[in-house]
Amino acid sequence: MVDRACLDCGMRVAATMQHCPKCDNDLSTQHDGSTITVDIAHQGERVSEALRKMQREVDLARRGVAMRIRIIVGSGLIREEVMFVLRDLEYRGEIKSFDLEQKNPGAVLINLK
Ligand SMILES: [Zn+2]
Repeated sequence: MVDRACLDCGMRVAATMQHCPKCDNDLSTQHDGSTITVDIAHQGERVSEALRKMQREVDLARRGVAMRIRIIVGSGLIREEVMFVLRDLEYRGEIKSFDLEQKNPGAVLINLK
């Protein structure tokens, strides 16, 4: 389990907490503006492996303080499947939004918070 600190008051909080016990800030909306980059398509991954990897990274990132996660998806089937899964995650409110990167269509930018 990843520990983190409240970005407002610095209190150490468990990654599973929704609100800071000290200042009551909504921890799920706090972010430090950073972007995590993860490559899920360039180590010979099958589509199912790539999707599992993405889900794991998104889950992990949502518990952390990054604002966005950038997934390198390549240009083939993995990208198509990723877009499909992300539409579902967006619908369920697990991510805020996502889009293919403007200058690099082999990467998807996901807004987590
Ligand atoms: Zn706090």
